[in-house]
Amino acid sequence: MAEIKRLVRPVEVNYLCDACGKGMMTKVGDMDPGTGAIEHRCMICNASQTFYWNSYPRIDHVGEDESI
Ligand SMILES: [Zn+2]
Repeated sequence: MAEIKRLVRPVEVNYLCDACGKGMMTKVGDMDPGTGAIEHRCMICNASQTFYWNSYPRIDHVGEDESI
């Protein structure tokens, strides 16, 4: 197979708190290697939420011509 390259740009992905709708969820612990659970907490109201195999904030990459 030939090597292929393309330009991408970084996008920051945040998760807005489900409880207050204002704060950003931030990762507060390490991922549980068995379940993939990662605990997060809201910066404003301190609500906690668990995401699986996914943490916020994070940086994804999209192709230069892709919309986000
Ligand atoms: Zn909140």
